[in-house]
Formats: sequence, structure tokens, C-alpha cells
Amino acid sequence: ADFGTVPDLIRIHAADRPTHRALVQGDQSISYAELDALMDRVAAGLQRDGVKPGQALSVCAATSIEYAALFLGGLRAGAAVAPIAPSSTPDQIVAMVNDSGASLFFLDAAVAAEMGEALGKVVTKQVSLDGSDAGLPFLKWLPEAGAEPQPVELDRKAPFNIIYSSGTTGTPKGIVQSHGMRWRHLAPRPDGVGYGPDAVGFISTPLYSNTTLVCFFPTLAGGGTMVMIPKFDTVKWLETAQRERVTHAMLVPVQYRRLLEHPDFDRYDLSSFQMKFCTSAPFAAELKKQALERWPGGLIEYYGMTEGGGGFMLLAHLHPDKLHTVGQPSPGAIIKLIDEDGNEVGPNEVGEIVGRSAATMSGYHNQPKKTAEAQWTDPATGDVYIRTGDVGKLDEDGFLTLMDRRKDMIITGGFNVYPSDLEAVLVQHDAVAEAAVIAAPSDQWGETPVAFVALKDGAEAAPDALKAFVNGQVGKTQRLADVVLVDILPRSHIGKVLKRELRDDYVAMGR
Ligand code: ATP
Ligand code: MG
Repeated sequence: ADFGTVPDLIRIHAADRPTHRALVQGDQSISYAELDALMDRVAAGLQRDGVKPGQALSVCAATSIEYAALFLGGLRAGAAVAPIAPSSTPDQIVAMVNDSGASLFFLDAAVAAEMGEALGKVVTKQVSLDGSDAGLPFLKWLPEAGAEPQPVELDRKAPFNIIYSSGTTGTPKGIVQSHGMRWRHLAPRPDGVGYGPDAVGFISTPLYSNTTLVCFFPTLAGGGTMVMIPKFDTVKWLETAQRERVTHAMLVPVQYRRLLEHPDFDRYDLSSFQMKFCTSAPFAAELKKQALERWPGGLIEYYGMTEGGGGFMLLAHLHPDKLHTVGQPSPGAIIKLIDEDGNEVGPNEVGEIVGRSAATMSGYHNQPKKTAEAQWTDPATGDVYIRTGDVGKLDEDGFLTLMDRRKDMIITGGFNVYPSDLEAVLVQHDAVAEAAVIAAPSDQWGETPVAFVALKDGAEAAPDALKAFVNGQVGKTQRLADVVLVDILPRSHIGKVLKRELRDDYVAMGR
């Protein structure tokens, strides 16, 4: 078939292999037949409550089987599911629920406690996914067993979900994706990812994030088993992967680091692995190398954004000599690099990445101005591309070296300094576990580079020694003005370093 919806594919698997496990979390699991019936009840409940196809459905909770079934049942009713990060502030949650236009809000006790009084500022119909008194308990809200929804026709353009961007660089933006775009990720793939009915996928990042969802939907659409843990823990992850005979998993770089650094990593049996995936933040070449050498199965890194522009993929097992890059354009993606004036740049020249593919977003929800700002029109063809805000360069073979976000670039005395260049030098120091370089305000230069560094367990190094280590190897304009030691770098729930916070911290330190 050249198009199918996720809920329809799940119905087919429920008929083919009713008792096959669909969702697993801890010692709980539900089969395809059970999931399909639960999705029907959710869809019927939404219709009973007046949720119309295309209307948003808001949810903010920790990952659970109920949450997953709500997401999938919402799709069956034609709702645009709008999942929200529980790590957001109460005000952000209020803003996102209200921005989405949802008439129902699904949450759990932890989110309700965190939101406190702010909960009064969102839609009054609230349902508690974990059965707590944070809202009408889910089981009471659900229509009784056997309830069937009115069938809803969904075409490629029908909205699938509204995913809020990570908010790494500012206020999260609601990104509308359609059923057609999601289908692009489900269609048979040329990269050897076996999302078949015997696949066992494993996710350990929160469900709200596109990083997680690009593994979640293909696994279920393929009829495989989706294993989930709500909160990443190294040992729990290793035990679960071994016990469930996981075949493929999505992990973010900081999780790879924690797993590979765990003293018992090599003692676990991960021989069931066929493929592992990584995306969302810089993935050090050395770490990719270790993941290839010490962990069975292939390794695919994706570089992209929720907006769908700029898709690259690195089949690391096939290109071990290109581990310093994020790979080549994904099949069907057209990528260009442009300069400040919007002109294309040549090989090995630095530029902003712009991209276009069938998986590009429909636009930012309620934000036509931001949508327009995120677009670049090719003067030669009139085609519209998404601006990624990321800077990089292509080598002769078409592999992309990702450098930095434009917003993180440092302009010092009129020169551009790329934080990634300095971070790469810092992590070569034996004592350094990780480093983030930011632009600190400077009276003399406008901005000046400052490094935040976390040392390896038990290692020692003085800030001045680290500064000298870097400054002896880089150009004059790139020299670090200061080094600050920290225990760990601040990260979002999907492992992105929050440079905004570091910049604020540095200013507050008054150095
Ligand atoms: P916001 O747009 O709200 O500031 P965000 O850009 O972090 O948040 P996402 O869409 O989740 O939101 O993330 C996309 C960004 O993540 C990319 O623009 C890029 O900067 C970064 N990224 C994605 N994949 C990789 C990768 N493989 N290596 C390095 N960085 C990556
Ligand atoms: Mg972004």
C-alpha cells in the first residue's frame, strides 16, 4: 500500500496476531487485540465528549501504557494529539494546552502537583491517566468495554499531532505533522531497519518528544513489540534490554555515554540487537566508535528537527570513516547550505542547513509569522525549504559536519567562533568528561568564548590548566576567556545541553 494510517495498521496486526504483545512497561503488557479494543474505547470517549477530527487533544504525563493507548486512540478519532513535556514549567504547560486549542487535558498526579494553582488556568475537563484524583480517573472516563467509535476517514493531509519543539533556544513552537508525513517514516525503508512483526523496540526518552516517536510509531505500525521505561536508569535499561531480547532502541547521546561507561556494560547479553538509533544532540565520534565495537548490531544517527527540515542520516556501521559527521541526506530529503545573504555555498564552506522533504511540517500552529521566518525559498526553483538554524559544512562525499546552532555561534571582535571547535579540543583532555562553550558578554569584544566543563569521575584539572590546554591549540580569536568547572552540564529531558541556562548562570556569577 502507498498510504496507511497508524491506527488502521494496528487494527490489521490485531486481526493477524491478536495475542502478540504490543506494549510492555515493567511487568505490565497488553496484546495487539487488547490495544486495538482500548483504542476503540478512547476514540469513542473522545467522540462522546465532542472532540472533532482535526481538533487538538492535550496530554502531559509520564510515559505509561495508558498514555500510549490514549495517543493511538486519539489518532483513531482523528484528533491532533498534542503531547507536552512534563518537565516544562507550569506557565509553559498552560500556554501549550491553551495554544493547542484542546477541550480535554489528560495528566497524571505528578504533573498536577507540579502545576498547583496554574491547573485552574487550563481547560476544566481533566482526566487523570494514572487514576489519581488529579482529574476524572481514566477508567471512569473510558466508555465501557466493547464501545465502538464512529469511523473517521483520514487522508494524508489530516493532522496527526502537534509536537512542541524542545524549547532549547526559546519558547517551544507547536509543530503540526500530518498522517502523510508520519507515513513517510513508516514506509519500507532502504536503510535496513527491520521494523517487522518480530521486532522488539525499546524507548527510554519521554513519549512527548519526536525523538521517541520516530521509534514508537514505526515499531507499532510494523506489528512489533514496543518496550518502554518512563525514566532512564542505566542498570534498569540494561536489564530490560537483555530480558526482553530487544532488537532496536532509540537513545540520546548522554544515554549512550552512561551505558558505555557503566562498568558492567560488557557483561550484559545484547546479542538480540539489530539496530540502534541516536538523535537530538551532538554524538561524539569516539562514543559512536565504542557503540559500534562493544555493542552488537548497526548504528544509525539521525540529524533532523521536529519541523522535518534538514534530515541527514549516518549509517555508522557502513561508514566507520565518517563518524565525525552526521551522514548524508536521508532518502527523499533535499538539502542545501546557504550563507547569511541566502546564497548557496560550495563544498567545505560553512553555511546554514536548509532542507525539504515529504516529512516537512505543515507549519507552526497559530504562528504564521514564525512559519514564514523558518522558510527559505530557492530563487532558482521557487521551492520552499525549512531553515534549520543549524550551521555546518558538506564534504566532497556529501557528508555533513554539524557545527553549531546559529544562535550559539560566538561573534568576538567581528570574528565567528564555533563553540563546537573548542568543545572538540576540550574533550581531548584526559580529565574532561564533557564541555559546553558559550558566548559570554564582553565590553571589549562584544562576545567572548567561555567554557563550562565537567570532569571525569575522580579526575582533577585546574580551570587555568584547561584554559591553557585549549588556548595553546587554537587561533588567537578563538581563545577561551574563562573556564568554569561544574559537576554536570544542565540538560533537557532528551539530553540537550541548555546553553541558554549556562549563559544566564555565567552572567549571574559576575566574573
Ligand atoms: P527549539 O527549536 O524549541 O529551540 P530544538 O531545536 O532543540 O528546540 P528539536 O526539534 O527537538 O527542538 O531539535 C532539533 C535540533 O536538535 C536540531 O536543530 C539540532 O540543533 C539538534 N540535533 C538534532 N539531531 C542532532 C544530531 N544528530 N547531532 C547534533 N545535534 C542534533
Ligand atoms: Mg529547533
